[in-house]
Amino acid sequence: MAVAPGKESLVGLGRNGLAEKLATLGVPERQHRMRASQLWSWIYVRGVTDFAVMTDIAKELRGQLAEHFSLARPDIVTEQVSVDGTRKWLLRLNDNKEIETVYIPEEGRGTLCISSQIGCTLTCSFCHTGTQRLVRNLTASEIIGQIMLARDRIGDWPGAVPDDPSGLPQGERKITNVVLMGMGEPLYNFDNVRDACAIVADGEGLSISKRRITLSTSGIVPEIPRWGEEAGTMLAISLHAVRDELRDELVPINKKWPIKDLLDACRAYPGLSNAKRITFEYVMLKGINDGVEDAKALVRLLAKIPAKINLIPFNPWPGSPYECSDWEQIEKFAEVVNRAGYASPVRSPRGRDIMAACGQLKSASIKQRASARLASA
Ligand code: SAH
Ligand code: SF4
Repeated sequence: MAVAPGKESLVGLGRNGLAEKLATLGVPERQHRMRASQLWSWIYVRGVTDFAVMTDIAKELRGQLAEHFSLARPDIVTEQVSVDGTRKWLLRLNDNKEIETVYIPEEGRGTLCISSQIGCTLTCSFCHTGTQRLVRNLTASEIIGQIMLARDRIGDWPGAVPDDPSGLPQGERKITNVVLMGMGEPLYNFDNVRDACAIVADGEGLSISKRRITLSTSGIVPEIPRWGEEAGTMLAISLHAVRDELRDELVPINKKWPIKDLLDACRAYPGLSNAKRITFEYVMLKGINDGVEDAKALVRLLAKIPAKINLIPFNPWPGSPYECSDWEQIEKFAEVVNRAGYASPVRSPRGRDIMAACGQLKSASIKQRASARLASA
C-alpha cells in the first residue's frame, strides 16, 4: 500500500532547521531561538508525536505547526522479535523505499543498529546488502527517524511503556548505544550521517554520547580523518583480511585504498587512545580467512594501534558463496587474538532467526515483498 504524501516531518531537524521552519510560519525572528528550543525539547527529550501536547507553545502556533508539519516517523511495514529478544523493523519511507533497523538488547544496555543508505554501492562478496544496488542515500531525518521509531516501540521515552516489554533491558535507558552497521556505507553519505549524529549526541536531546555511537566503514580512507574531526564518534573498520590479495576479493574497495593506507588513516584517527580504540571487524569465513596464520598476522598488523578485535561469525544468506567457519576454528582463531591481549573478541550472532544479523539485511525485505505479493495474489 502506498503511503499518502504527507506533511513534512520536523523529526531530524536541528535547532537551526527548526528555526527556519518557524520563520516560514511567520514567527518573529526574535522568538526563533526560544521556540526552536521548545520544539527541540518536545521532539527529542519527550518524543511527542502530536503538536497539541506542547503546552508551553501558544495554541495558535501549535495549530499552525500541525497544519504545515508533522512529527511522523518512518512507517512500520513489519516488526519481528527474535527468540533472543532482538527486534527488527522493516520501515517504509515517504517514497515507498524500505530500510531495516535492528535493536539488540543485552544485560544493562541496548544497541540500535541503523542504516545509512538504501542498498550499497559497494559489493563486498560476503554481504547481502552488497548485492542490492544503491537506491539512494538516507536523509538526516530518515536516519534519526529510525531511532525515534525504535524508542517509540520499546517505550524508551520518559514515562513511556513499551507495547511488548519482553526481553528489554532493565534501567532507565533502553537504547544506550547506536551503531551505523545497517544497510549502506555511512562514509558515502557523510553529511547526512554527520548531521544526524550531531543530533543524536546532543546532550540536551537524544543524548547518546559520541563515545556510544560507532560508525562502521569498509574503508573509505580519505573520509576517515574528516569523520574524526567533524563527527568524532567511535570507529569500526571492516577489515576481514590481512593480505591485500584476499581483501581485494572480499572488500573490493581495497583495490582503491589498500590495507596499508587504511591502517595509516586509523593510526591518525583524531582522539585515538587506549580509552578510545578502533574496533576491527573480521568476518569468519570457512577456509578463506580463518587460519591460525591469519590470526597471527592480524595481531601483528594491529600491534601498534589502540584496537579492539571483533570476530563476526559469517551469517549466511540464500545463495551466499561462503560458509561460516566451524566453531572449533573460530575458537582457535580467537585464542591467538586473546593471547595477544584482546578481550572477548567473538561477536555472538543475534537475531539470526529473523535475518537480523550482520550482513543479512536485505533478504527479509525481499522475503517480505514476496510474502506481500503472495498475500495480495
Ligand atoms: N558498510 C559498512 C557498515 C555496514 S556492514 C561496513 O561495511 O562496515 C556492518 C558489518 O557487518 C561490517 O563489518 C560487514 O563487513 C559485516 N557483514 C556484512 N555481511 C556480513 C555477513 N553476511 N555476515 C557477517 N558479517 C557481515
Ligand atoms: Fe556495503 Fe558494508 Fe555490505 Fe560492503 S559490507 S557491501 S560496504 S554494506
